[in-house]
Amino acid sequence: MTISSPRSLTIIGAGLAGSLLAILLSRQGWRITLYERRGDPRIADYESGRSINLALAERGRNALRQAGVEDAVMAKAVMMRGRMVHPRSGEPELQRYGRDDSEVIWSVHRKDLNTTLLQLAEEAGARFHFHRRLHTVDFDAGYARFIDDRDDQAHDIHFTTPLIGADGAGSALRAAMNRKSPLGERIEFLDHSYKELEIPPGADGGFLIEGNALHIWPRGKYMCIALPNDEGTFTVTLFLPNQGEPSFANVRTGAEAEALFQREFADALPLIPNLRSDWEQHPPGLLGTLYLDRWHQGSKAVLVGDAAHAMVPFHGQGMNCAFEDCVVLARTLAEHEDTAQAFAAFERERQPNAAAIQQMALDNYLEMRDHVADPAFLLQRELEHA
Ligand code: FAD
Repeated sequence: MTISSPRSLTIIGAGLAGSLLAILLSRQGWRITLYERRGDPRIADYESGRSINLALAERGRNALRQAGVEDAVMAKAVMMRGRMVHPRSGEPELQRYGRDDSEVIWSVHRKDLNTTLLQLAEEAGARFHFHRRLHTVDFDAGYARFIDDRDDQAHDIHFTTPLIGADGAGSALRAAMNRKSPLGERIEFLDHSYKELEIPPGADGGFLIEGNALHIWPRGKYMCIALPNDEGTFTVTLFLPNQGEPSFANVRTGAEAEALFQREFADALPLIPNLRSDWEQHPPGLLGTLYLDRWHQGSKAVLVGDAAHAMVPFHGQGMNCAFEDCVVLARTLAEHEDTAQAFAAFERERQPNAAAIQQMALDNYLEMRDHVADPAFLLQRELEHA
């Protein structure tokens, strides 16, 4: 098969950035083809049964607005007015993000969001190929090899279009570009990892704890957070060091995890009935920051979202930042006839912004796990907002 046409682009990865970009570019008249490693989430469960969610902030909403998809996404979003801080003892306390409900963030369900964006991209004219994992690219010959993970079958595609890497933190397109001409890649892993758990709905189907808040259990060197889902559940994420006491190295079994929660997050423990089995079934996820000197290779390829600038999740801005990338890349492609110039303009505009957000995300880890429970810090915040 050969893909060509002067106004055609090929996107690798139909996740959050890939599908939003497909909407924006298809509506601008580009012929968009996407290749996605997983199956179509509209017809098959592509993740575990648990709900995983993300905090959507104004920068992400603004991008969704510009793509004309804000209403479809916000229909299922849950408002989070502030942080509900759970101390070791005593009552939880809500710290509002702003003066009123005009300054809030939103919790969105990752799979629902992805499915909504995919559907809208298809309606805008984009074509999808699922079960196609990019394996290698021969830029000189114009061939890309994809693998179908169901049967390990290789599919070679001849392409004459530029490639856009929206294939996430472990981007195979980035690896292929790097092999052709080094991008100056540096990855700094955090010495903390994370594990996701779930608070189910109450007997009446409603939330068991305050639904319109991002819950935090700050405990100094580690912390737990919980974000609401519109079906009445919460996705709980525990961030814990890889080594030391306590850490993923010595909290291994479900029973050890339960003992940790009993000691450190006592009010959360009765809310998580499947703590033991969830703990043992899901390995901890790694956290890191990806730095690149260059995001593009002439007119041949460019990277967006996590593929270009993966970050730690503590500012809740990775997706939001990826969405902003999509708006800017669609604009620079509209402004420049020459694709290489469009990619270069995109990189110039977005690289400093992404670097700043990556640093804020690292800084916010300290604030979330520690300072939100610190009275001096709270007093300072009060004075700043007075
Ligand atoms: P992804 O969402 O990773 O999508 C990549 C897509 O490419 C996937 O569909 C994947 O299957 C596909 N793919 C991968 N490899 C290949 C291949 N070789 N060939 C073809 N397809 C491929 N961000 C926020 O804004 N708010 C939050 O609250 C937030 N919380 C987070 C919590 C955690 C624990 C983590 C780890 C991240 C969080 N993030 C958050 C960050 C957010 O998840 C990412 O920034 C966002 O998913 C990036 O979107 P993306 O489309 O670039 O990558």
